[in-house]
Amino acid sequence: MLGKHWIELTYLLASILFIFGLRGLSHPKTARMGMNAAAIGMAIAIIGTLLKHEIVSYELIIAGLILGSLIGGAMSYWMPMTAMPQRTALSHAFGALAASIVGIAEYYEEVIVHHQTLPAYKMAALGFEVLFGSLTVTGSLLAFFKLQEMMRGTPITYKGQNVINMSLFIAAAVIFLYLIYDPTQANLFWVMVVLSFLFGVLLVLPIGSADMPVVMALMNSYAGLASAATGFAIGNNVLIIAGTLDGFSGFILSILMCKAMNRSITNVLFGAFGSVSQDTGQAVEGVMREVQVEDVAMQLAYARQVVFVPGYGLATAQAQHAVRELAEALEHKGVQVKYAIHPVAGRMPGHMNVLLAEANVPYSALYELEQINPEMQATDVSVVIGANDVVNPDARDNPKSPIAGMPIIEVDRSHQVIVLKRGKGRGFSGLENPLFFKPNTGMLYGDAKASLTKLAQAVQQA
Ligand code: NAP
Repeated sequence: MLGKHWIELTYLLASILFIFGLRGLSHPKTARMGMNAAAIGMAIAIIGTLLKHEIVSYELIIAGLILGSLIGGAMSYWMPMTAMPQRTALSHAFGALAASIVGIAEYYEEVIVHHQTLPAYKMAALGFEVLFGSLTVTGSLLAFFKLQEMMRGTPITYKGQNVINMSLFIAAAVIFLYLIYDPTQANLFWVMVVLSFLFGVLLVLPIGSADMPVVMALMNSYAGLASAATGFAIGNNVLIIAGTLDGFSGFILSILMCKAMNRSITNVLFGAFGSVSQDTGQAVEGVMREVQVEDVAMQLAYARQVVFVPGYGLATAQAQHAVRELAEALEHKGVQVKYAIHPVAGRMPGHMNVLLAEANVPYSALYELEQINPEMQATDVSVVIGANDVVNPDARDNPKSPIAGMPIIEVDRSHQVIVLKRGKGRGFSGLENPLFFKPNTGMLYGDAKASLTKLAQAVQQA
């Protein structure tokens, strides 16, 4: 068995690797390295813990390791890229369940079995862990059901919802504070556990599937903080460090996503966005002009610069390989091809980066919003692939629009715009998009993958 100092050393090493991992994740180029560093860190932390003297049963741990690895392996192998948001939701639910169960077991053991009074600091850490851990379990499970379409994805609202939710949370928080004062009240502890599980469900009910990534980042942050509290409760340094890193990075991520959507976090949590038809404050005039594959292929083949703008439709159509093939066909003809990546295109942060990386699109061809917008006027053709809200000029031009102020990729400033979508379906915001009615916009209807494949063939023959 390792001595205490050696175990602390493995924890220190693991923590350093977690920090390197997070640093790596801040850029797509280094993200894979970051993931590996964090995974190695986690393995070191597990090995350090397994070599502790206080391990009760190795048999149970090995059984857990095998079962967990089988479930994790199967999930990553069989769940498609498009199901990544719900896969993450499920992982959060499992992580939070672990934190919550550790807290409940610790309380049960010390207060109920051994009739000990917990010191205030320990009860505070333990109560925090159970409160936030439990609400994250049910909240994440509900998010999973909504995203997997096992239940209605649109916001489920009723009168007085915010007041009921707030009252419930305040009741749980008051019990938590009372337990710090008198930890022996086991009945109150169980009431707090039930209220926390219930609050998780009620919190997520009014949130629509498309807002779920923000909620998931927030839940991630709660789960992290719950783990940090677990670290305090059981005196484990690596849990404190990893939990805090997780807690704060999740919180920063949710704020960044809200900023990119020009929404406040309270609007996401309590606004039930998408439940009512929105008033745009301005009717859209004009007609949508339909275009054919052959004409678009000619336009593209003779362009100097083409910018692809992928969106949620690219993910649902799984068109990432088809878009690369079209790009290669164009580059073969001497066309400069760039990809414009909006920070909230798709349904989760980095959604487009992940898909395009899977299709081996070179990272140097990806341009962020601030980089590509100044180039739009010099772009011959912008090809919008299953994107809608992220190219809606109303966000820039119509102050009454519900998405007013959201930064967009300004495809309407390029010479020609071709929009690949199946029909007249709206985007996540449910708003009409005036871009589709502009004279320099052509609509190429059809599934994005099928349209791109046909375009690539036509470009090769042009
Ligand atoms: P979007 O506004 O949701 O629009 C997607 C468009 O894709 C739809 O208009 C749909 O039109 C089309 N489409 C769907 N399936 C298709 C297919 N198989 N082939 C071709 N087209 C298809 O998507 P977006 O422009 O990417 O914007 C993302 C939205 O999600 C933003 O409003 C953002 O605020 C929100 N959001 C994003 C995140 C994030 O982290 N990325 C998080 C929360 C919310 P048809 O039905 O006519 O085909």
